[in-house]
Amino acid sequence: MTESDNLDPSRTNTLWRTVRYAVLAIGLAILVALVIAPELGRHAFWNGLIPLAPALLVVAPGLWRNVCPMATTALLPRHLGISRRGTLSVEWQGRLSLFAVLLLFALVPLRHVVLDSSGPATALVLVLLAAVAVTMGFAFDWKSGWCSGLCPVHPVEKLYGSRPISSFANAHCTECIQCTTVCPDSTRSMHPFSRPTRAHRLAAVLLVGGFPGFIWAWFHVPGNDGFASWSQLGWCYGVPLLGALASLLMFLAARELVPVKHYPTLVRSFAAAAVSCYYWFRLPALVGMGVFPGEGALVDLSEDLPAELPLLSGIVTTGFFGWWLVLRRAHRREWLVRPALVER
Ligand code: SF4
Repeated sequence: MTESDNLDPSRTNTLWRTVRYAVLAIGLAILVALVIAPELGRHAFWNGLIPLAPALLVVAPGLWRNVCPMATTALLPRHLGISRRGTLSVEWQGRLSLFAVLLLFALVPLRHVVLDSSGPATALVLVLLAAVAVTMGFAFDWKSGWCSGLCPVHPVEKLYGSRPISSFANAHCTECIQCTTVCPDSTRSMHPFSRPTRAHRLAAVLLVGGFPGFIWAWFHVPGNDGFASWSQLGWCYGVPLLGALASLLMFLAARELVPVKHYPTLVRSFAAAAVSCYYWFRLPALVGMGVFPGEGALVDLSEDLPAELPLLSGIVTTGFFGWWLVLRRAHRREWLVRPALVER
């Protein structure tokens, strides 16, 4: 399944297809659980699946791109041969990149308003996103509309995924028609600024600069059991967005001071800050030792674990992501190996 594998390509394809549909089945099971057993579904999704995702995006973004259930949904029309296979201009690809970043900043605070506490609300948002994803897959060729376009996780893939451990076979594209200008899957050391238009660059600045502060501030907002008041809504959105503004200003100042040849290191440093910040707060919260005790816990072990655990886990994860993304000497790799190029 990796570039070094000697597996027969047809067996590799079958293997990827099997894994892809197995992960889709798990995703559908969680979706059903969110509605009929909301407690279980909520834990499985927000406290089981989602905390694994950022680390996977850092270490093996190509693996995620191959098995993501939303990608499988979006690409269903293409695999079934019923996609209209439209082409997106570079300008529209840039606009979609910008919309994706704005969608990310709009959806994450919604977790504190209602999603973290409500299975059905989470299911509704996932179904709406799946409907948009499949529509984009029906209208546009391969990954241009959703996976490399409007998907709100895609900006995070580009931010975190610049130093993948390996390049995997592309489990979706059977041929490359260059549907996306600067294909994120097939470009070595992909990062948010590897894209051509002004909208791409604006999206990159907002994401790279804003995301670390956004995450830090998000963890300092308590969750709620649904919409209570406009001031609560303002708090849920205002605090993370103020955090984003603070780190964005720091990024813009640092960019003025750092020589151009060191920009990639600056971008990776902000990426490391964002993902480290996430795990600094999220891992203790998973065992009931978060900023708001008990909130976001998979299992509450706060009585049994040493009080120093949050600090220790934060030091370990920050050290790991700082080393992986910034300090380590890494080969320049693409997320996925580009399939054979064909003319449209
Ligand atoms: S490999 Fe080619 S066809 Fe597939 S997403 Fe990238 S540019 Fe599009």
